[in-house]
Amino acid sequence: MRITYACRTCGSTVALSGVESAASLTCPRCSAVVEMPPGAIAWAGPGGEPVGAGEGEPRLRRCLVCPCTELFTRKDFPQRLGVGIVVVGFAASCVTWAWRLLVPTFAILFGTALVDVLLYLLMPECQTCYRCGARYRGLGGSPEGFDLETHEKHRQQRIRLAEHAAAGRPPASPT
Ligand SMILES: [Zn+2]
Ligand SMILES: [Zn+2]
Repeated sequence: MRITYACRTCGSTVALSGVESAASLTCPRCSAVVEMPPGAIAWAGPGGEPVGAGEGEPRLRRCLVCPCTELFTRKDFPQRLGVGIVVVGFAASCVTWAWRLLVPTFAILFGTALVDVLLYLLMPECQTCYRCGARYRGLGGSPEGFDLETHEKHRQQRIRLAEHAAAGRPPASPT
């Protein structure tokens, strides 16, 4: 299993692999250590039955970084690449259109759309934490698709935390 997350200390993007057999995550840039919550990874056999650690495939119970229990599955597709392909295709088709080359124009437009669709279908899925945005790849099972309500809840929570931090008050004071 691979993880990509933003280091809380130095802010750099940390990408680590083989985290299912690790006890903590270490940032290679600033050496900040994130202790992984115990029991965050459950091991499942082919039928989904629980097995011992190291057997079967790892499944995520909660985020290893923050440690939120709410994660969603999405395609591991770089959005910029998808948009880039469309933009390049459109620019090329404008050139052929200016030259009155009708068939190449449509061939380019349909071709770039097809490449986008194929890329999307071929891309593996990854799991993303709602709260901290950490991404996980190479996992068994899939918890749930994206839920706007949960996303909004965590977004509001982040705003509140930022407001508390700006006001210099402790973040958790339920009175
Ligand atoms: Zn760091
Ligand atoms: Zn998280």
